[in-house]
Amino acid sequence: SKHRPWNFSAGPSVLPEAVLEQAAAEMLDWHGSGMSVMEMSHRGPEFTQICDEAESDLRQLLGVGDEFAVLFMQGGATAENAIVPMNLIGRSTQKHADYVLTGSWSTKSFKEAAKYGDVTVAASNDAVFDDQAQTYGPLTWVPDVSQWRVRSTAAYLHLCSNETIGGVEFIAWPDARQMNAMGAPDVPLVVDASSHFLSRPMDFSRVGMLYAGAQKNAGPAGVTVVIIRRDLIGHALPVCPSAFDYSNVAKEQSKFNTPPTYAIYIAGLVFKWLLRQGGLSVIEKANITKSDALYGFFDQSQFYRAPVHPSVRSRMNVPFTLVDSSLDQAFLDGARAAGLNQLKGHKSVGGMRASIYNAMPLEGVMALIDYLQWFEREHG
Ligand code: PMP
Repeated sequence: SKHRPWNFSAGPSVLPEAVLEQAAAEMLDWHGSGMSVMEMSHRGPEFTQICDEAESDLRQLLGVGDEFAVLFMQGGATAENAIVPMNLIGRSTQKHADYVLTGSWSTKSFKEAAKYGDVTVAASNDAVFDDQAQTYGPLTWVPDVSQWRVRSTAAYLHLCSNETIGGVEFIAWPDARQMNAMGAPDVPLVVDASSHFLSRPMDFSRVGMLYAGAQKNAGPAGVTVVIIRRDLIGHALPVCPSAFDYSNVAKEQSKFNTPPTYAIYIAGLVFKWLLRQGGLSVIEKANITKSDALYGFFDQSQFYRAPVHPSVRSRMNVPFTLVDSSLDQAFLDGARAAGLNQLKGHKSVGGMRASIYNAMPLEGVMALIDYLQWFEREHG
């Protein structure tokens, strides 16, 4: 059968076809209820079941226990840039919070937080990095943890674990030993994991809070997943809107006000799809295979370049350039004709970007590599 075009959008992005088919089949009548999920009361038994299962499936996937609250919120990761400091910065009497800057999303988080307290930069990749073999431009590498400067008084240390635009991914974030070595034994990590959430198992041992807009790997736009250690809840600044106070949302199990019910339902179907695949270790292997194939291709080519340092190349968002950028438009037009969509890089950086989230099969990545080879032969 003819498949749909391969969709390399950074988000909203490709979803598993099995999930879309199930949603279509259940559109008019969910499980004999006589209602679409869109038509259900958020406090009725049907939606309560959907929401509870989504939460427990997500906990199972990530291996997070009851010491964390799992919340489904609205406003996207952008709103979290304000909601995080409004809820957490008050834990520090001086309203200190520290930020690691590795690209556009972490920089946005930092700028927003400055409205609510005294924020500083713990580390930044805004310079050229020389690793002996090669030099790497700003925003294409991650400063070594030994160089981070974190205040022991900070309410939290924020990082973006996958920069969607720059394609820089933290393969790991600091563990307890490294946080102690920084002189920050009690500073919890706050992680914006939006664009690689559920792409791999994640270490929650030093995480105070992790958040992700769903519209990349977890579902449709409209729901933001927030996972927060319960002991960090309850310090909201007076200015914090009640609907964004984690203590209200946690107390009401994401139903303090009407949650984005349909988005939660679809995300729940994605969680079940991931469990059927075998969970996050299995999906991680597939993601390594896909991204290795693509980066491996770029590394042997003189025609294309992948600018990110090999140690932190994102498995989800793969930026690349054509060495001769005058061919960019021909490249994109040809890609579209070949059924390869949304390869244009973010407007702020130009070039190309292939986002290869969980729901992008290896077959789609191989189709992209075939096209890359063909285009190089035609124009190289
Ligand atoms: N953080 C990251 C890492 C992102 O990729 C995005 C969206 N591309 C955002 C934050 C902002 O998310 P939203 O547009 O849902 O507010």
